[in-house]
Amino acid sequence: MDFRLNEEQMEIKRAAREFAEKEFTSELARRCDEKHEFPRDLYKKAAKLGFICPHFDEEYGGQGLGFLETILVFEEFCRVDSTLGEAIHMASFGSDYLLLFGTTDQKKKYLPKVAKGEYLSSGAITEPNHGSDILTLDTVAKKEGDYWIINGTKTFISNAPIADFIVVLCQTNPELKHRGQTLFVVDKGTEGLDVTQLKGKMGTRATINGEISFDNVRVSKDALVGEENKGFYHTLTFLDIRRMMIGGVAVGMAQGAFERALKYSKQRVQFGRPISKFQAIQHKLADMATKIEAARQLVYKAAWCLDNRSSLSLSPRELSKICSMAKLFATDTAVETITEALQIFGGYGYFKDYDLERYYRDIRITQIYEGTNEIQRNTIFGCISEGA
Ligand SMILES: Cc1cc2nc3c(=O)[nH]c(=O)nc-3n(C[C@H](O)[C@H](O)[C@H](O)COP(=O)(O)OP(=O)(O)OC[C@H]3O[C@@H](n4cnc5c(N)ncnc54)[C@H](O)[C@@H]3O)c2cc1C
Repeated sequence: MDFRLNEEQMEIKRAAREFAEKEFTSELARRCDEKHEFPRDLYKKAAKLGFICPHFDEEYGGQGLGFLETILVFEEFCRVDSTLGEAIHMASFGSDYLLLFGTTDQKKKYLPKVAKGEYLSSGAITEPNHGSDILTLDTVAKKEGDYWIINGTKTFISNAPIADFIVVLCQTNPELKHRGQTLFVVDKGTEGLDVTQLKGKMGTRATINGEISFDNVRVSKDALVGEENKGFYHTLTFLDIRRMMIGGVAVGMAQGAFERALKYSKQRVQFGRPISKFQAIQHKLADMATKIEAARQLVYKAAWCLDNRSSLSLSPRELSKICSMAKLFATDTAVETITEALQIFGGYGYFKDYDLERYYRDIRITQIYEGTNEIQRNTIFGCISEGA
C-alpha cells in the first residue's frame, strides 16, 4: 500500500496551484460573486493549459488521465479561491454523461469543445416537484417517428443560462417509473427551449443557475444518450463520479480556509500575544488539519476506486458507497472547518475583506447539491445493509 501521489500527479497539483495563485485574484472573485458573473476568460485560460477535464480521452480533447488527476486540479483551484474554483469545476457539469454513455458522434461533437473551454454544459435532473425523489419525473419525452418531443421544467440547473448544451433526464415510459427514464442531449437555441436565470443565491455566485422550460422541444433520435429507459441508472453512475468530485471541491475549500486561519492566528495579537499561542486556537487548527486530511484521503480513495473500477472488480453498490461517503464526510468536514476558520478571524471574518465569509457561503451548497447529505446517508445505509 502506497499513499503517495506519483510524480505526474504531484506535478499536476503543483501546476494547478501555480496557475490559480497567479490568476484567481480576490478582485475577480469578488466581482463575480457580486455580479453573478461566470469567469469565462479564466475558464478559457485554464482550458488552454489542460486543466479542464484531463480525464477525457485524448481523442476527445482530454489527456486520458484519471478522475484523481481531475480532482487534484479542482482541489487546488478551490483551495486558492472557493468562488472561482467552484465555477470552473462546475462549467463542464453534465459532460461526463456523454463521456460515460454518449455515442462516438456525440463525444466528438461536444467533448473537445468543453475541454478547450469553448463550451459550457449542463446536466438537468432536478424539477420543481422532484428534487431528492427522482423515481418519477414530470418532464416527459415522447417518440414521434425518428424524433422525440420533450415537455416539462427543470430547475436550479447550473450553467443553464449560458450552457451550449444540456443533458436532460426525461420520463419516457411513465408506467415504468425510474425504469422508464431516458437521457437526451439538447443544443442551446433549440426551438421550444427557454431558460430563465435564477438570482438571489447565497453563494457560488460565479456559477449561473437557471430554470429550463421545454415546450415541445423536438430532438432527433441521435440525441438520445445511452440506452432508452436506462437514464435513471446512467444517472446513478454519473452521480458517483460527481459526488467524489464535490468531495474534492470541499476539501480544497476547507484547506484554503484553514491556511488563511492559520496565517491570521499568527498575526492577530490579543492579550499581548498572537492568538495562535492560545491552546483553544491551537486545538481548533489541529482538529481542522486532521479532519481535512481524513476527508482528502477518503476522496482520493473514491477517485482511485473509480479509476480502477474494472481491475478492482467492485460492485456498483461498493462504488456508490465509497463515493457517497467521500461526498458526505468531505462536505460536512468542510462546513465545520470553514465555520471554525471564520471563528478564528473573529469579527474580521464576518466582513468581506478576508474572503472568509465568501468561503462560508460557498461551501454550504456542497451539502445540498448532487444529492443532499441526508440522501448520501440513505445511500450508504442501503449499501452497507446489503453487505457492500
Ligand atoms: C445552487 C444549486 C445548484 C444546483 N445545480 C443543479 C444542476 O446543475 N442540476 C440538477 O439537476 N440539479 C441541481 N440542483 C438541485 C439539487 O441537486 C437539489 O436541490 C437537491 O437534490 C435537493 O432537492 P430539493 O432542493 O428539491 O430538496 P428536497 O428533495 O425537497 O429535500 C428537502 C429536505 O428534505 C430532505 N429529504 C428529502 N427526502 C429525504 C429522504 N428520503 N430521507 C431523508 N431526508 C430527505 C433533504 O435532504 C432536504 O434536507 C442544484 C441546486 C442548487 C441549490
